[in-house]
Amino acid sequence: MHLTPSPLKILVVGGAGYIGSHMVKMLSLKGCSVTTLDDLSSGHRDAVLHGEFIQGSLADKALLDRVLSQGFDAVMHFASFIQVGESVQQPDKYYQNNVVNTLCLLDAMRVHGVLRLVFSSTAATFGEPQYSPIDEQHPQQPINPYGRTKLMVEQILQDYDTAYGMKSVCLRYFNAAGADPQGELGERHEPETHLIPLVLQVASGRRPHISVFGRDYDTPDGTCIRDYIHIEDLCTAHWLAVQALMAGQESQAYNLGNGSGFSVQEVVDTASRITGKKITVQDAPRRLGDPARLIADASLARLKLGWEPRYPDLATIIAHAWQWESKP
Ligand code: UDP
Repeated sequence: MHLTPSPLKILVVGGAGYIGSHMVKMLSLKGCSVTTLDDLSSGHRDAVLHGEFIQGSLADKALLDRVLSQGFDAVMHFASFIQVGESVQQPDKYYQNNVVNTLCLLDAMRVHGVLRLVFSSTAATFGEPQYSPIDEQHPQQPINPYGRTKLMVEQILQDYDTAYGMKSVCLRYFNAAGADPQGELGERHEPETHLIPLVLQVASGRRPHISVFGRDYDTPDGTCIRDYIHIEDLCTAHWLAVQALMAGQESQAYNLGNGSGFSVQEVVDTASRITGKKITVQDAPRRLGDPARLIADASLARLKLGWEPRYPDLATIIAHAWQWESKP
């Protein structure tokens, strides 16, 4: 007799945000039972296309207790503040939400015996690169409060594994970009600070120009180089991470990127080619804390998770983002 395995039950915290909403869609299409918990401080209710939606904050311990008592196979945690500059101006906001509220989540998980977590971490935990591409052995010396909050949670998770047997996968994103290939979802940050959506807003006429933050970096064209990773490839890595945890794999951190970098100018040129629009550029001073080059070595994720990016080329990433930006 064949028993059909019951669908995985996943709690997605921050499921109304950019990455979380794409994740909810993927999990649902994989047949999972998905619950989103989001306070809508930056997410959008209409971006949660599937499953149960609960509006609430990780600071609300009674709510967390009620939600976690439903029992879940795993939690995915996307609910963080992500703006580096803001984290320098308002570190209290970042330590409170990204660290303290995450602790509330972890403790509710522990109390209810939910002991698997996939956590959104970041290349910002590495700080100024000492070599490139950056692998998991690279020293982690973040240079801003945002990066420090993420590193603190990575360290807390190691201690929670040792003490409570909570297994986690930390995924350190390089530059998440692109949009749902079916065009149902995309990036909607308020305010938008990321390069690709801003460039495309210039192409669609929503902004007059794009500022290029520095042309005097030690790179071939003088502009900063980043490793852009398609949102769907990022979500696939989360899905593989949950499966690895379900199969009993030990806690692990993985760097996620394509291993190839593109300069700000290359992004502008590719966007201009894909959209067929003129993109007005204005040179601006360097942005504080921007390393010249951030490129991931994701060999470990390929090896241990079997992760294989499906959309590694910049033109496809931009084309999918443009499909979203140019939607009527
Ligand atoms: N950037 C830029 N103009 C903008 C926004 C970003 O020149 O209006 C540059 C930024 O300095 C960095 C790259 O684009 O080198 C990617 O920035 P983004 O904020 O998208 O991601 P980050 O690398 O900070 O995670």
